[in-house]
Amino acid sequence: MSGGLPTLAQSRKNKIGVIGPVKGLYFAGDCYDGEGGRSDIAFHSAKRCAETITND
Ligand SMILES: Cc1cc2nc3c(=O)[nH]c(=O)nc-3n(C[C@H](O)[C@H](O)[C@H](O)COP(=O)(O)OP(=O)(O)OC[C@H]3O[C@@H](n4cnc5c(N)ncnc54)[C@H](O)[C@@H]3O)c2cc1C
Repeated sequence: MSGGLPTLAQSRKNKIGVIGPVKGLYFAGDCYDGEGGRSDIAFHSAKRCAETITND
């Protein structure tokens, strides 16, 4: 979890994307690339993950 007050190193541009390094591996959660803060990040990364899987 990135915490309530993320550091600069935990900002969105430094987060891992939802598409993993291996075909078929995806990530979702508040540690990954997603809009907003805290649980918003988990929600948006999960949504992007589902959309990516559906379109792959
Ligand atoms: C005290 C507290 C208060 C918070 N208040 C807010 C708030 O007011 N608003 C807000 O937006 N956010 C809040 N947050 C943050 C929010 O809870 C998180 O951002 C959000 O839950 C992250 O969702 P997630 O799915 O990434 O991870 P999690 O919700 O942590 O889910 C991860 C799940 O994976 C499971 N898991 C872990 N390891 C394994 C394993 N090896 N095998 C199988 N399962 C595993 C865990 O048991 C857990 O169920 C709060 C967090 C805390 C701790």
